[in-house]
Amino acid sequence: MIQGFDGLHLPELSLRAGGDRLATEAVLPDIDPCTGSAFADMAVASAAQVDAIVYAAHRAFRNPGWRDLTSLARERLLHRFADAIEADLPRIAALEALDTGKPISIVEMVDIPAAIAWLRVYAGWPTKLAGRAGTLSGTPGAFHVYSRREPVGVVAAITPWNFPIVLAMWKIAPALAAGCTVVLKPAPETPLSALRLVELAREAGLPDGVLSVVTGDGATGAALASHPLVAKVAFTGSTATGQAILKASVPDLKRVTLELGGKSPSIICADADLDLAIPQAAMGCFFNAGQVCYAGTRLYVHRSIYDRVLEGIAAVGAAQRMGPSADRASQMGPLISERQRARVAGFVARARSGGLEAVPLRAELPDGGYYFAPTVLRDVPPDAEVAREEVFGPVLATAPFDDLDEAIALANGSPYGLAGHVFTRDLATAHRASAAIEAGTVFVNCVMLADPAFPFGGMKMSGIGRENGSEVLDAYLEPKSVVMAV
Ligand code: NAD
Repeated sequence: MIQGFDGLHLPELSLRAGGDRLATEAVLPDIDPCTGSAFADMAVASAAQVDAIVYAAHRAFRNPGWRDLTSLARERLLHRFADAIEADLPRIAALEALDTGKPISIVEMVDIPAAIAWLRVYAGWPTKLAGRAGTLSGTPGAFHVYSRREPVGVVAAITPWNFPIVLAMWKIAPALAAGCTVVLKPAPETPLSALRLVELAREAGLPDGVLSVVTGDGATGAALASHPLVAKVAFTGSTATGQAILKASVPDLKRVTLELGGKSPSIICADADLDLAIPQAAMGCFFNAGQVCYAGTRLYVHRSIYDRVLEGIAAVGAAQRMGPSADRASQMGPLISERQRARVAGFVARARSGGLEAVPLRAELPDGGYYFAPTVLRDVPPDAEVAREEVFGPVLATAPFDDLDEAIALANGSPYGLAGHVFTRDLATAHRASAAIEAGTVFVNCVMLADPAFPFGGMKMSGIGRENGSEVLDAYLEPKSVVMAV
């Protein structure tokens, strides 16, 4: 039974290879994280079904296929796809909220509009994807040299449960714009928006097989990622799974981009504007119940303001109204699953039994579901488990510092390098820290911004390659040089 979303019509749950519907062989329950109750059965694709879906995607790619359409025709179809999502906003938002447990008001305001914005930005790219012309530098004679940018082929887009439609669109939009076809594998916890996206793509006129979905578990993902006709894997999720995907790519030398975990630091300097820094640093950790890959989960605060900042952050955490996804007054939902709730609770319990102190924070947890109260731990040493490992819940590990060099050393003392944050009023401090922090993105006096205008991704163990910006297109295009003696 679906609680709170009266009359919500689920997308078709069976899978298709191109236009052909596949018989459902095995299922997993789709569970509402706000209640813990199953409301639907998701198809688990077998290796043979993955094979049929990838073959259909490969047929749709070429001879003649998606890559052979004129660039203007691809642009038009992608804009029509964006129009279809826009027209479907109330329904696809409800599906996403039901699946993830996120408050519906946030999904309507943030997640779905972001997915549409990404699609529109990359929809404008096909007509602008040109190579460049030149000549040879060291060989005498007359040559005309130019480069072409050719789509790599079938893309496996494998996504996690924290921002299902957004992270899927970060891959789908540039891949389709580049002329690739895409097989999307959503997380087993959150298949609904992916299934609906494929229906909307079909309604918008995208040919069968250009965008397909394959639902299932890790084994389904592994079958997809290692399929010989998949030319490129675009993955977001845990570092361990990213490593498994990279290993599986070796026999075919597949192109792989990995957007992995993080343990992103925030530094609040003594001169920071605390009216801005406190709520930003708090929501930089607690937003989406802490299930954000680039959340600021390690906080270093100048000793002179440490107690004041921690009190402020605890107050912001306590003020979050936790509640079910269908309630428009909810500000924070539950964690995605019982497994995730137990994992987060385990980190906090081990931190406490190891002697770490939590700032007192009164939060009311709704009955049922997988809710977890925001937690602020103080004086956390750099070698504590909770300072080193990605928790993926609303848990902030904090420590005081005395000077900027110490704060930067603490910030960089992590194998991850996804994001970093600095709060200061001093321009020199801002530039110095931005250059010194080892992370793919540094935010100064702000948090949680992503935009198709700038590249996003991780240094160190946080990943390989970049999403977004014009840079992401390189991941879906092979440069080819043509050298012509004239
Ligand atoms: P995961 O990495 O196991 O799953 C992500 C996606 O990969 C899912 O679609 C899954 O079905 C698929 N998958 C799993 N094994 C695969 C394989 N061998 N080959 C191909 N695909 C495979 O993540 P999880 O188990 O859902 O979450 C575990 C932890 O990962 C979380 O606690 C959190 O720390 C982290 N996480 C990080 C992000 C992020 O954005 N960086 C997102 C979600 C989870």
